[in-house]
Formats: sequence, C-alpha cells, structure tokens
Amino acid sequence: MKKYIFICSFIFGLFSKLSAQDIKNNPTSNHGNKFEQLGTILPTPNEYRTASGAPGPKYWQQRCDYDIVAELDEPNLRLNGKETVTYYNNSPDNLTYLWIQLDENQHSTLNNAGYQTSSKMQNVMSDAELRAFDTKKDREYGIVILKVVDVAGKNLKYTINKTMMRIELPQTLKPGQKFIFKIDWYYNIIDRIKYGGARGGYEFFPEDGNHIFTMAQWYPRLCVYSDYQGWQNQQFAGSGEFTLTFGNFKVQMTVPADHVVGATGECQNYSQVLTPTQLSRWQKAQTVKEPLEIVSLKEATASETNKSSQKKTWIFKADMVRDFAWGSSRKFVWDAMPTYVEGKKIMCMSFYGKEAYPLYNKYSTKAVAHTVKSYSKFTFPYPYPVAQSVEAANGMEYPMICFNYGRAEKDGTYTEATKYGMIGVIIHEVGHNFFPMIVNSDERQWTWMDEGLNTFCQYLTEELWDNQYPVGRGPAHKIIDYMKMPKDQLEPIMTNSENIIQFGPNAYSKPATGLNILRETIMGRTLFDYAFKEYAKRWAFKHPTPADFFKTMEDASAEDLDWFWRGWFYGIEPCDISLDSVKWFKPDMVNNAKPIERKTSIRVAKPLYNNTFDDISKIRNRQDKSIVFAVDADTSLRDFYYNYARGLATVDTLPIEITEVLYADTIDNTTKAAAANKNFYELHFTNKGGLVMPLIIEWTFKDGSKEINRIPAQIWRKNENKVTKVFLKDKEVTGIRLDPMRETADIDENNNVWPAIDLPNKFQLYKSRQNNRGQSSGVNPMQKQTK
Ligand SMILES: [Zn+2]
Repeated sequence: MKKYIFICSFIFGLFSKLSAQDIKNNPTSNHGNKFEQLGTILPTPNEYRTASGAPGPKYWQQRCDYDIVAELDEPNLRLNGKETVTYYNNSPDNLTYLWIQLDENQHSTLNNAGYQTSSKMQNVMSDAELRAFDTKKDREYGIVILKVVDVAGKNLKYTINKTMMRIELPQTLKPGQKFIFKIDWYYNIIDRIKYGGARGGYEFFPEDGNHIFTMAQWYPRLCVYSDYQGWQNQQFAGSGEFTLTFGNFKVQMTVPADHVVGATGECQNYSQVLTPTQLSRWQKAQTVKEPLEIVSLKEATASETNKSSQKKTWIFKADMVRDFAWGSSRKFVWDAMPTYVEGKKIMCMSFYGKEAYPLYNKYSTKAVAHTVKSYSKFTFPYPYPVAQSVEAANGMEYPMICFNYGRAEKDGTYTEATKYGMIGVIIHEVGHNFFPMIVNSDERQWTWMDEGLNTFCQYLTEELWDNQYPVGRGPAHKIIDYMKMPKDQLEPIMTNSENIIQFGPNAYSKPATGLNILRETIMGRTLFDYAFKEYAKRWAFKHPTPADFFKTMEDASAEDLDWFWRGWFYGIEPCDISLDSVKWFKPDMVNNAKPIERKTSIRVAKPLYNNTFDDISKIRNRQDKSIVFAVDADTSLRDFYYNYARGLATVDTLPIEITEVLYADTIDNTTKAAAANKNFYELHFTNKGGLVMPLIIEWTFKDGSKEINRIPAQIWRKNENKVTKVFLKDKEVTGIRLDPMRETADIDENNNVWPAIDLPNKFQLYKSRQNNRGQSSGVNPMQKQTK
C-alpha cells in the first residue's frame, strides 16, 4: 500500500513540475537532447568575442609592466623585493581600484584563503595525519607589504583580503590611461619539499649544505581584468593556478656570487656574472649541435664546497610574458644548445644539481628542443628566444622556464619509470609555454583549458619522441577506470579548479583524452589539426574562454561537435555501448527473396583481444612516413631501455586495415541480383553508459580477414538508447568486435563482442603487459607531482 502511494506521488510530481525541456532530458525518453545545440549554455557573442570563437573587432586586454629589484638572502632564507608596476587600462571601463595577487599568503596561517576540506578519523593513522588536525602556529610565512606608493612616493590606500590586495586609485583610471605604482615587500622562503604542494621555495641538501631556490609567484602580481568577468580575484587556495596579464619585465636579482641563475627571458649581463671561461663557452654554445656545458659538473661541485660569501646581480629582460620565475643555486650545472623553428633560433637550456646529472645531462636540453619543435607544429611557432628546464624535484611551469624532476640513483643508474617520467614532465612543463603562458586562459577558473590542452599536446609530443613511448594520459582506454567510478566521485570537466574531486583525471586526462578521441576517431587528423591550430593562433597572446575553444573547433572544421562538448565536457556519463545481438540473414532465392533468419553457434576459441595492443595514434604515426621519431633522428637518445623494449615487445602493426570510408553511405543497393549470395547482418546496440559515441565495428570473416566500419555518433540522434543497423557483407562473418582499438573509452568491453567471449580479466591483462614496455608503466607514479 505504501509503495503504491509512493509511486503515484512520484508520477504526479514528475508531470506537474517538469517543463517540456525537462521531459526531453528524461532518460526514459528515446529522444533526449544529446544532439541539441549548446545554445544558451554558451555566452552571447559580442564585439569582443565573436560567434565563430575568434577575438572580436573590439577585443581588448590589459597590460602590466614590471621593473623588479630582488635580493636573495640565503643565510636567512628570505627574499626582499621592490617593484615598480606600470598598469595600462586598455579596457573601455573606468577603474577606481586595482587587484593584486599575494600568492605567498598561501603559506601564511593568518592570510591564506581559509578554505578547508572535510576530514575523518581512520583505523590506522600516521603521526603526520594526526598532526594535521592540530591548529598550526604561524611560521611567519606569507608576504609582508612594507609600502605601496605612487610614482611621487605618496602612500596609496590598500586592503589585504587573504591572498588578494586591493589598491585604491587616487583618481579614476580612464580608458587609455596608465598608472605607475611601487610596492616594497619581503617574505620568508618556504621549504617546498617539507611543505609539499608549494610551487616556489627552496630545497635543502643536507649532504653538502646547499639549497636550490625556485622563485615562483614570488612578487605581487596584477590580477586579470577582462571583458568576460571583470576582475579575476578568486582567492588562491592551492589548486586553481594563476590568471595573469601580459607585459614586459626587467628583473635584477642579487644572489650569492657563486650561484647560477636561470630565469624567464634573456640575461642582459652575462659578461659581469660569468667567468671569462664560462662566457666563451656561452658564446660557443650559440652554434653547437649537442648541448654544451657553460658550468660543468666539476665547477658546480667545487662551488658546493667553497660557498662564496660575495654577491652578484643578474639582470634579465622578458617581453610579452604573463609571469616571471627564476631558479638560483650554486649546485647548478648549466648546459645549452640552440634549436630552430621556422628559421628562428631558440636557446634550449637546462640547470641541474649533481643528483640529476646522469639523466639531465643526457636528455633534458634535447627534450626541451623536441618539445618546442613538436608543439610549434601543432600550434604556432614558439615565439620566445629561450626555453629552459630546471631540475627541482617537482613539476611547475612559467614562461620560458619550468621546474621538473628526475634524479638518478646514487650509482648513476636510473629506472625506466624515472627516465620516462622525467622526459614526460619536461615535455609537459615546457609545453605549458603554449598553454597557458601564450594562449593565456583563466587557470583560476578552468584548469582543463591549460592542463587538458597541454596534456594532449604532451601526448602527441611523447609519441613523436619514440613510437614505443610508454604514454600515460591520452589514449582512450587509459581513462576507463575513471569513467566507471561512482557518479558522486565524478564531475563535469566544466568545473571550477578548486571544486574538482579527482583533479588529475578530471582536469588533465579527461580533456586530453577527449581531444585525442576528436582527433583520431571523430574528426580525423586533418580537420582536427587545422581547427586546433586555428584556436591556438587566434588566441596566442590573448585570453580565451571555453566557448572560444568550442566554437573555433566547429567553425574551422564544419563538424557539429555540440553533442561531444555536451557529453564529454559538460557531462559525466561514460561510454558503454553494448552489442546485444546479431541476426544473420541470407536471401532465399527460391522463395522470391524472402529473408530467412539463421543463427550461428560458432565460438571464437582465441580472444580477439590483442595483448600487444597499440593505440590507433601509434599505428597511424608509424604509417605516416613523414614522421621521424626523435630516437631515430638522434640515436644518442637510445639507451638500455630503448633496446630492452625492442628485444622483448612485439611491435608489429595490427593485422587490420583502417578504413575511413563510412559503410553506411554505400549500402543502398539491395536489389535481388546484388543480394544473391550476400550476407545481411542486423546488429542491435544499446547505449548503456549514456554517452553517445561513434560505432566502430570490426568484422572478422570466415577466411580470417578483417574489416572495420566507422559509423558517426549521429546514428544515435533519433534514439539515444537503442540502435539497430543492417550491414551487407560478401563474406561470412565469424566474429564482430566493437571498438577494437579501444578508442571510445567504453567502460565495459565484455559486451562489445559477438559471439560472446570472455575478455581477459584485469589481473591477466596486467600480467601480460609486464613484458611490454609500451604498456607497462601506465600512468607514471611520479606524474602526480606534475602541475
Ligand atoms: Zn600542467
């Protein structure tokens, strides 16, 4: 009785409250809205941002120039700074205040954002976990503002709200005007190894008593003021990274005399800070073919012991950058080599301590050069004069410089995971020069816009390093475990950076995988690459939003992708397409072509599943004769692991033909003559996961040959839950497999085959992958540290 009442009221509620649109959303309806245009979900186009996804005729952005004088006080682990900021109001708006980011307040116990996460007691807990419940005492971290004055030295009123500071302008700053002000400040530098998660700070090496300093988000920085949201002054709480204004920088940093400094931009006074020998090596390095050491291991090791008490001032300049970072240490070995993109020289450089020497000396600068060239191919030519990699036991990106990891064992050997983790993190962090350092998206709001796009290009670049590169994020099948998580653990990609539960999969892997699916499976390489490049070119040195990306990808390709943005970026449903049943028809010529139904009982003895599985992109890269892999162009990049993998792994191409021809277009001739001796297969599919995806059908024929048909996702547009489709085949079919190259992230592959066969279970799969370098490491355990 109770149950009956419940059902009645539920049905009543449904019909009384739901609008027509809601009824369309009702999953029990066959005609949902998965193929409707995004329409009002996207912002209305205006003269700043067009409907095509390009900057509009009145597009504007602010500019901010910095002149900074800083002193690194190594004995006291403190950074002192004075900056002169010139802010240009290019907006059509009158401004009465400016917002400044004080990111170092993240480490203050008084002025941090104050966001908290939930916590609970565990059955087993460590000391550190217990200590985390204790109220922290302020360790005097966070930035101390000494003064804020205008160009005449007059005090300006300011208010600090946690990680943000508002400066009140003495007069309204009108469109086209600029305002110059000065800030003096200092902060105590944090031990970023001890307080994990800190992007900048120092690392102490007890064996030799030295530090590596990585100075990042270290000076008060202007927030972005934009046409689409005014001031971006959301608090810095750790996850949502930085949103910054372009400008020109001049930075003078005074550091211990034996330190080597690598920084955003170009050094203006090498002749004053380098020894004559180092200076002549630097000049020689301008034309070398292999990385040349400006500071050698022997010299760095001598500095570690001697520890100069003198000081030196390095001067750097950088134009059109959104930020400035630097690394400083007497531990640094420094090597350099030029590379060329469309005839323009880029100095690729690396800085690393002896701990990282075996790997960094061999790979770092070459990985930097490979990244700059590869990304330039997929986006726009790298515009800056230098690109640098600093070994700092973490991964974090800034313009022209980034901090990466990759230390060898004490005896100089290294594991395969460390090697590929290190090359991967260098590619990733150098790659961030393109997204978001140049294509300057709002990281505080949308992590995926830089991490997702960058992780995708990282994947493309790793695959161009070596066709056997053990890639982590990118291939569709690698995101299955995330896609099949409980719904309360999943959020749309379109989620604010601070609110993401599964940060890595949501902001890195899923968008990167989505782009890979667009490129290899939905759009094809030619259309995708053109549109992706168009987006990068349109928004280089500008501030794009998600809508600008979505619109450009469609505008430049003539592919309606709203269904994909809706499902993959705004939704959480996974792909699970089930091949429910197959009916086989042969025409009965005697009885005047009346079809008879025959069911088969053939069992496939050997699983169709290929354990030496190659992603479709690897296969296509191998087939593309214009591609020269880095390890083939430069055989010095081959090491033990290269040969090891090729000795054991099967690397031959899958025995299938990849055809881009859509079978649906050719199946219109079913006349009696044509039908004689033909086989008609009626396939019944169910969309169990909810996400619509193309149907990729691999047929295995009686003679052992195979064929693949690709049906676009639009097959689901009139019924999102069930689809039936008939295929005509000359030869008899013995097996059918859906998504044979695992391109759609289908979370249940057991319902993808006919006749039904058991797939290897997860444990078997793992064991069989042990012998194959190409699959063994999966997501590198160290990849988690990458930002
Ligand atoms: Zn990143």
